[in-house]
Amino acid sequence: MTSPLEPVLAQPGLARSEAFVDLGAIRHNIRTLAAAAPTAQVMGVLKADAYGHGAVPAAHAALAGGAAWLGVAFPSEALALRAAGITAPLLAWLLTPGEDLTAPVAAGVDLGISSLALLESAIGAARTVGRDVRVHLEIDTGLSRGGATVAGWRALVSAAAAAAAEGVVHIAGIWSHFANADVPGDPSIDKQLDVFRAAVADAAAVGVRPDLLHIANSAAALTAPHAHFDLIRAGIATYGLSPSPAVGRAADLGLIPAMTLRTHVALAKRVPAGSGVSYGHRYRTDRETTLALIPLGYADGVPRSATNIGEVLVGGVRRRIAGTVCMDQFVLDVQDDDVAAGDEVLLFGPGTDGEPTADDWAIALDTIGYEIVTRIGGRTPRTYRPLDT
Ligand SMILES: *Cc1c(COP(=O)(O)O)cnc(C)c1O
Repeated sequence: MTSPLEPVLAQPGLARSEAFVDLGAIRHNIRTLAAAAPTAQVMGVLKADAYGHGAVPAAHAALAGGAAWLGVAFPSEALALRAAGITAPLLAWLLTPGEDLTAPVAAGVDLGISSLALLESAIGAARTVGRDVRVHLEIDTGLSRGGATVAGWRALVSAAAAAAAEGVVHIAGIWSHFANADVPGDPSIDKQLDVFRAAVADAAAVGVRPDLLHIANSAAALTAPHAHFDLIRAGIATYGLSPSPAVGRAADLGLIPAMTLRTHVALAKRVPAGSGVSYGHRYRTDRETTLALIPLGYADGVPRSATNIGEVLVGGVRRRIAGTVCMDQFVLDVQDDDVAAGDEVLLFGPGTDGEPTADDWAIALDTIGYEIVTRIGGRTPRTYRPLDT
């Protein structure tokens, strides 16, 4: 295993393609979030392999930026971080019935709990391991995704209180998640906060006073100070992307996109006017021109919906994908420009050299930056700029 302290260094020209991650950008973004939420602690959210950036290196960078907490969806993700030697407070919030929770309990992973059944299984694991389980009770304040319903909240809190009195549970948090925090000022935000405060008051009424209250994601961290409470859970902003155009452009938010996806031209060739390009001939050359073949496709995370839409930077010029994105490759029409096999191609990056950002890709393809970076496939090695450079 590669130690995060000895990251794989980029070797320009050697890798066919790489997702190059600037760990200093992650550290910077955590500092930006901490400054935006000065009264709260920061949790760096590392689910889905740190949104495709590599969970272990990203964890070290987030901690270096001052994150007090790390968060993931699944206990298996938390265990992988523990196995890599990461001892920071760590929350996993998506448990499934029947899952063996003894390993996360033994590893001191905090668990997000949204039902009596999951509380029971966490308690069972705690008894087996012989230590208390630290739980964060989740109230559904209006997202209608995870969390206990308002109707079921009192029962969950009371059961947790009883287990806490026995010493088998420690109630570390009460938390929730927003539906529309990426639309600043959306009325649902304050409605959810009202439900959240009522749930906290209900818990207090049965004697439950958790260490931490938390509800803010990146968008709320950046735009809703009244939602910061004790801890913000920041995912997308950690990686330097904006939660949504309505929240603002990453650069204006003081964020630096951490990932650069780059490759090299595999083949360049002259073709005549009227040549149909790629599957379905959904692009046709209107003149004699040079086509450049780019060795990344939808198996690598370049959305097939980028056909005739996505833009990349080659030779300092933005060029639109010509024709259908294939599994492993796509084509550019570079006309008479001097583009040759081996030339570097930037699909996205921080945007500082004129390349698109992942946020630009998201806007062009009617999706979110989250999806652009998390879908980069396993064939593309992650390489790192370490923190000390
Ligand atoms: C993914 C996730 C986050 C982070 O959200 P961002 O919008 O990426 O900041 C926070 N909390 C929960 C429960 C999540 O699932």
